[in-house]
Amino acid sequence: MMTLLEQAQSLRTQLHQYAHEYHVLDAPTVPDAEYDRLFRALQALEMAHPELATLDSPTLRVGGQPLPQFEPVIHTVAMLSIRTETDVTPAGALAFDASVRKELDLPLSAALIEYAAELKFDGLAISLRYENGVLVQAATRGDGATGEDVTQNIRTIAQIPLRLRGEILPGVLEVRGEVYMRRDDFDRLNERQLAAGDKTFVNPRNTAAGAVRQLDPAIAAARPLSFFAYGLGVVEGWPQPETHSAVLDALAGLGFPVCVERAVLQGGAGLAEFHAHVSDIRDGLPFDIDGVVYKVNSMALQKELGFRTREPRWAVAHKFPAQEALTIVEAIDVQVGRTGAITPVARLQPVFVGGVTVTNATLHNEDEARRKDVRVGDTVAVRRAGDVIPEVVNVVLERRPMKDVPGADLFSSSQESLYPVFSLPRACPVCGSHVVREEGEAIARCSGGLSCSAQRKEAIRHFAGRRMMDIDGLGERYVESLVDLAYVKSLADLYALTLADFQNMKAAVDEAAGVSAESIAQGRLATKWAENLLEGIAASKTPLLARFLFALGIRHVGESTAKTLADWLGRLELIRHAPAPLLRSLPDIGDTVAVAISEFFAEPKNQLALDALLAAGVVPRDEHAPSGLLREKLMPASLYAHLGVPKLSGVRSVQLAERVSSLSALARADWLTLTFLPADVAKALLSWLDEDSHRQSLQALAVWCADLERQLPAEIESLAGVFKDKTLVLTGTLPTLSRDQAKDLIEAAGGKVSGSVSKKTHYVVAGSDAGSKLTKAQGLGVSILDEAALLRMLDVREG
Ligand SMILES: [Zn+2]
Repeated sequence: MMTLLEQAQSLRTQLHQYAHEYHVLDAPTVPDAEYDRLFRALQALEMAHPELATLDSPTLRVGGQPLPQFEPVIHTVAMLSIRTETDVTPAGALAFDASVRKELDLPLSAALIEYAAELKFDGLAISLRYENGVLVQAATRGDGATGEDVTQNIRTIAQIPLRLRGEILPGVLEVRGEVYMRRDDFDRLNERQLAAGDKTFVNPRNTAAGAVRQLDPAIAAARPLSFFAYGLGVVEGWPQPETHSAVLDALAGLGFPVCVERAVLQGGAGLAEFHAHVSDIRDGLPFDIDGVVYKVNSMALQKELGFRTREPRWAVAHKFPAQEALTIVEAIDVQVGRTGAITPVARLQPVFVGGVTVTNATLHNEDEARRKDVRVGDTVAVRRAGDVIPEVVNVVLERRPMKDVPGADLFSSSQESLYPVFSLPRACPVCGSHVVREEGEAIARCSGGLSCSAQRKEAIRHFAGRRMMDIDGLGERYVESLVDLAYVKSLADLYALTLADFQNMKAAVDEAAGVSAESIAQGRLATKWAENLLEGIAASKTPLLARFLFALGIRHVGESTAKTLADWLGRLELIRHAPAPLLRSLPDIGDTVAVAISEFFAEPKNQLALDALLAAGVVPRDEHAPSGLLREKLMPASLYAHLGVPKLSGVRSVQLAERVSSLSALARADWLTLTFLPADVAKALLSWLDEDSHRQSLQALAVWCADLERQLPAEIESLAGVFKDKTLVLTGTLPTLSRDQAKDLIEAAGGKVSGSVSKKTHYVVAGSDAGSKLTKAQGLGVSILDEAALLRMLDVREG
């Protein structure tokens, strides 16, 4: 029998272990419920016997009482800042290496210096003090000499160990690192704020810093924070490793999260390479960084190099180009998208940000533009990260142009903004049709449909896209001219274009631009582009059914929905007449999507456009019989459940199917037929039946389903192959397959391709230059395939 003390100790040990597995290793071994059970047991025990509580108890993670203020903490070993290299080119790395060699008086012939390189996290520096393995204090950097005691808040960060792991624990160990917020955690936090009607946060860095400096630990506990360890302060009774990289390894061994994106490198060239590598993967990282850090790896050399004023000579932070910059809004225009979506766009004074010159930034929608209150003349912070469309982060209100209110007296001058609040135009700026914004929708739309040339252009651009009809060479510029000059009024018109059309179009464009028509004078060579385009158009005539469906630009139908439709129904003829209840019963197709699909095909002009495409010779090349799995979806119980009748749940539908065995019978149902159902369900069903034409539509549905049933194959075939229910992640460059080809093959074999590696990933397919995803997969023990192995597995399926 364990004593109470032993019980508490044992619970704490288990909880520490599970928390480490979950939060640091990302590999839990027990379900969350088990953790919660043990946690509650420990809480109860400590509550009944306060003398059993300890400083490293996981129960402290939920936070304590609010503080009146933070106590100062003096850093025995100062928390220094490191010098920043602002030359964002490789020269910045070489200059640091040169300065280290010069300080050490090394001749040119001397061996390369070894460096440890890591990421520069964009968060808040923290010093954690452990005595005999237990976290006793956490402090901010402050001015480097004195910080603030934020222990209560830091204890709420699940990634920070309350007790160090391992057999031999240091008497005193101060660990330095960065508290930060992951971008996905930040986005979720803001979603919650919005849902609760609260103010949203500007960026992860400020939000993390604000949370750490909360006097009320309950608020800090509600903010999802993360931590990376990267250095040491005071150390007593612990053999310090001889290199910085070994320190990081040791910290990981003690239970701290240490970022895997780090390397040991030789010389300035190695540093420059690391800088370039991290710059490439930067946008794929789940958190923000603003550069990389280089440190001389040898502790002995670090000591020899020492400090210049308060900055170490052995370390430097090497920046990346900024992802945010300030500029001025010159105008706010609106753009019209493929589905008619009207998007406000800020026209900006050109500004260099994220490595390119940006002149436009999206404001997403009217609400967003109003929430940020962006006005003409405002100075705004613009963010551009990777390939993401640049966006306005916030307005610098102090710089808003103001004017005096006329009539205000000299001594109490009052001012108002020079420019009014932004509002959307009521008419489409392109075609003049009404702009409508449906109840509950964030997006306003032009009601002009394909009669709006802006929507036509977008629809054609989408149709021709790489993952749709893949029309080679039909770029932005040509689509623009083809629509503006009225060569293409519908999608099918694309297939009627001739060489002469293209030449005339080009001549007209050149003329408008004041260029002489030399393209025609040059003869054959000048028509090559048009011949290529015509070839591209002709080649697109036999698309995969799923891509064709995706290309049609049906609202809410993305690649995967298009694929579901093609897999299950197999034939365009079925899909274009599929009723909403059947669509709803297909996997991953919810009510919104089902309604969008059936509304699209209910529109006569869309059916005509589709007929025109078929008449132009477009033939999906992989049509096949509908899936035998549909048999189950055609059972009355399944159809009833997807009719969209309020209160008619799955269970009630089964009950209903037992008594009312067909759609036709249901169409004739009255009060007496339905007495076996609970009154409210029967009432909801009857009022649904009496609505509009629902009884008639049930008859039509019955006919359609009977027709579909006749087309089903005799045997239920398997929908999927060797990767059925498996999730794969592609990374790096494969030797022969493109990303899209590999994705198609995997999906054809029933697999799903995901963008990020997690515990749920079954395989990672890695090519050359595979980066952090591969490292993560190795860390998680996920099986790794090269292209050859992937193809072998796919062959098994075919063989
Ligand atoms: Zn329009």
